[in-house]
Amino acid sequence: MTPTTPHASLQETPLTTLQQSASAPRPNLLQEGGTDLLARSLAAVWHPCTQMKWHEQFPLIALRRAQGVWLEDVQGKRYLDAISSWWVNLLGHGHPRLKQALGQQMDALDHVMLAGFTHEPVVTLSERLGKLTEGALGHCFYGSDGASATEVALKMSAHYWRNLGRPQKNRFIALAHSYHGETLGALSVTDVPLFSRAYADLLRPSFLIPSPDERLGAAAAQHSLQALRTLLQQHHPQIAALIIEPLVQAAGGMIFHTPAYVRGVAQLCAEFDVHWIADEIAVGFGRTGTLFAHAQAQVVPDFLCLSKGITGGVLPLSVVMTRDPIYQTFYDDSTARAFLHSHSYTGNALACRAALTVLDLLEEDRVLSRNATRLAQLEQLTAPLRAHPALRHYRQRGMIWAFEVVTQRADFARAFHQAALGREVLLRPIGNTVYFMPPYTITDAEFEHLVQATLGALNALL
Ligand SMILES: *Cc1c(COP(=O)(O)O)cnc(C)c1O
Repeated sequence: MTPTTPHASLQETPLTTLQQSASAPRPNLLQEGGTDLLARSLAAVWHPCTQMKWHEQFPLIALRRAQGVWLEDVQGKRYLDAISSWWVNLLGHGHPRLKQALGQQMDALDHVMLAGFTHEPVVTLSERLGKLTEGALGHCFYGSDGASATEVALKMSAHYWRNLGRPQKNRFIALAHSYHGETLGALSVTDVPLFSRAYADLLRPSFLIPSPDERLGAAAAQHSLQALRTLLQQHHPQIAALIIEPLVQAAGGMIFHTPAYVRGVAQLCAEFDVHWIADEIAVGFGRTGTLFAHAQAQVVPDFLCLSKGITGGVLPLSVVMTRDPIYQTFYDDSTARAFLHSHSYTGNALACRAALTVLDLLEEDRVLSRNATRLAQLEQLTAPLRAHPALRHYRQRGMIWAFEVVTQRADFARAFHQAALGREVLLRPIGNTVYFMPPYTITDAEFEHLVQATLGALNALL
């Protein structure tokens, strides 16, 4: 831990480019083309999940570099990336080991189609991920983003049942407040109204069961499991799989549930001959404290979806892992029994190399056990926040912190986001839910800066 200000910690980074920038005179915005870049972005780029007209009021921020937990804009202003750039960046930006590994991989083999070809990074990554599930999930299928992983898992599950002569088992169960991505299949198992209502006409409805939301007390999990049992009793011959974000329903509002609930889901699915899909796109790779969230429930899913943090946030990659007996039902002389799904960048060698490097770093630096031993100290740093009168349901699991803010402001999320940016922190509340999901490499001083900026933003708004 460095007893320095957050700014100093950026300036202390050993990378020469940043040291040069830190000591160089502040750049002139116009010379850098900053305002020009904003205008050009608004003219040519359609930004995700954005009402573009908002940017008349809230200007875009043009970034020029990122290092560690810090983003730096073209004016030299810095922002602590407290949400890991939409939850992908596990180990900080500009990691020297990732840069080195990707450079070497680029020299050897950049990308080749995975149909008819294979290569060392994709083989080694599949073997290593399989070992990390203790061999339970021995086959890996690759995509490029989280939503594709959801699509793959849903299609694989339904196709498995068809291969077994049970084609009527082709419907899915999801949880209230679930989020599994925004392509049409993934949106069909997503229950975030902002995303799913707009495109409801295009979707094939799924069965929804109540959320086991811990804020509602232990009865919520019981209620959800009871609803699941009733649903399965009535409809299991039509149901291929249930999909769940184990332990934390993230985009739905950082809604926590217990490992016991996950175990209950797994048991019911087994009892009624229905697959369960663990969508660990957000919660995988140590975010909830263990490498995989489902491990805390001591159960293994039929399908495991991983993405986001898998490459440390540097390249798009997703993977769906499954059991050998499921794989075996596709193994046949008939093409129609094969899993018929592909993406151009399936098994991209650079992305697989990044993922292997992330696994190396997690192991070598014992990142997860270090996170665990730091939590008590980090919880002390949140004390002034927890004491704030407008806070409700403060909760923490692994490297996720969340709470609701009591306010009448309809524009809370946006106003808070702006207020935090003004205090050098990037946060994007989900409605009234403020959450931290910082890179694991955040220092105590940086975490304290995050807490103080959050307090400052709250006090400015309320
Ligand atoms: C982000 C997310 C997805 C979708 O991933 P994309 O890469 O954005 O398509 C799916 N499931 C969960 C749980 C996620 O958090």
